[in-house]
Amino acid sequence: MSGSPVWHPFTQHGLGEPIPTVVRAEGAALHTADGRRVIDAISSWWVTTHGHNHPRIVAAIRDQAERLDQIIFAGWTHEPAETVARDLVALLPPALTRVFFSDSGSTSVEVALKMALGYWLNRDEPRHRILVLEHSYHGDTIGAMSVGARGVFNQAYAPLLFDVGTIPFPAQGREQATLDALERACAAGDVAAFIVEPLVLGAGGMLIYPPQVLGQMRAICMRAGVLFIADEVMTGWGRTGTLLACEQAGVVPDILCLSKGLTGGAVPLAVTMATEPIFQAHYGQDRARMFFHSSSYTANPIACAAAAANLAIWRDEPVLDRIAALARRQAERLARVADRPGFAGARSLGTIAAIDVEGPPGYLSTLGPRLLEYFRARDLLVRPLGNTVYVMPPYCIDDADLDAVHDAIAAAPAALLNNRA
Ligand SMILES: *Cc1c(COP(=O)(O)O)cnc(C)c1O
Repeated sequence: MSGSPVWHPFTQHGLGEPIPTVVRAEGAALHTADGRRVIDAISSWWVTTHGHNHPRIVAAIRDQAERLDQIIFAGWTHEPAETVARDLVALLPPALTRVFFSDSGSTSVEVALKMALGYWLNRDEPRHRILVLEHSYHGDTIGAMSVGARGVFNQAYAPLLFDVGTIPFPAQGREQATLDALERACAAGDVAAFIVEPLVLGAGGMLIYPPQVLGQMRAICMRAGVLFIADEVMTGWGRTGTLLACEQAGVVPDILCLSKGLTGGAVPLAVTMATEPIFQAHYGQDRARMFFHSSSYTANPIACAAAAANLAIWRDEPVLDRIAALARRQAERLARVADRPGFAGARSLGTIAAIDVEGPPGYLSTLGPRLLEYFRARDLLVRPLGNTVYVMPPYCIDDADLDAVHDAIAAAPAALLNNRA
């Protein structure tokens, strides 16, 4: 063994790729131990919303850490959790009346699935089938992988993943096929829930579909009595231009998963919100009907204090105006390269801009890692999904930094073709 004992996520250590040490961050900038300033163009994997080390969130964390660090949440409570729950219920659609805390996006999805199954069992109508959208990603725990796309990243566990019904992705021109497949699948009668990433499938390749289709999928589930789970772990907190992506379709889910930007991206926290019927199905005098889920750090007070500060920022500051301005700048930069040789499939929604880099046959297989290296060499944190390059920056990114990111993207196909090994 050489160097660090740390085993990194989604990292092939045998390739010997550099792993920079970051010592400090502010806004959209990361500072490394060797003195480089790196622009965070992907919000540290989609979590940082307002910017790194937002003063109000930092102050809330510091203040809470001095008063109450951690407390069991089964049968106990604390003010930061009560504040976050009240503020979420006030901010989000009124039908979502209940807030269950956990600590990651994957866990919020596990909780959502368990709530859905518990709802049906406690109504004495046990149902176990879950429907999912093709190319979905919902996290890396066994249940979350089960409802996500299958591939090389989960083939070792495939025999343990539970069976689901897969609805084709509503690609442009194929929307009706999606709706028909969902209609047929719901008619089977044993379907407990349909889980969806609203408007954008993130890890699946920043695949965007129209709000109208989201609304129609929700309506089909409503008519069939199938629970509708919205996984807004990535899309929530303004990413798509609105606080929730569901808003753009006038959709209110039965169950909503939020994490990533819930604390502004500062510390881990997640919530699964549910409608009153789902809570009521677990409510009563019978202990066997309670919701059997907890993790040690459920509703950690420091994380809740950060979330409360995030919610206050959303209340007090013109966050949606910042997002709209960023969305305009991104769309404008994207339009400049959309028709250039070497690019295809330019798409954007809110603060997310994505484009596919193309090249001669055989070129694509090595393109992902070479793109990663290309951006790293330019002090840009950009992490392509295969040959899809996307930008999803903190909302505070300034024009100079955003231009640096998009200038590098514009120059990437030619630069990579020219030094093709
Ligand atoms: C990131 C993500 C998750 C998983 O969240 P973690 O906090 O990484 O466990 C789940 N669903 C979606 C849509 C995500 O983007």
